[in-house]
Amino acid sequence: MRKFKTEQKMQEVKTLEYIQCDLCKRKAINDDWQAKDFPIEGGFQVNDVTVEFREGKVYPEGGHGTTLSVDICPDCFKEKLLLWLRGQGVVIKDKLIVWLKEQGVQVTEEDWDHP
Ligand SMILES: [Zn+2]
Repeated sequence: MRKFKTEQKMQEVKTLEYIQCDLCKRKAINDDWQAKDFPIEGGFQVNDVTVEFREGKVYPEGGHGTTLSVDICPDCFKEKLLLWLRGQGVVIKDKLIVWLKEQGVQVTEEDWDHP
């Protein structure tokens, strides 16, 4: 016979407190770049920036690699990084994306001309 007892244990849990923009030092509460400041009736606004470079080696049994990344707020992404890239002659790709929640999948992705 095994008899179990219930114990409460203190456990440290690491949670994201904020993200700070590496350029302007603005902070996003949790991972929200103030998207909640612009509510949409019946939904919410997506305001996410990911700038990341990943490289590595992958084999059938596993792999390894490294990631280089920076945290940039949406304003710095659009007004600094994209501006700098355009200055280098880069044409920015812009895609229109549509999601349907019932299916949980991205259903449309098409190129979008961006001035
Ligand atoms: Zn910023």
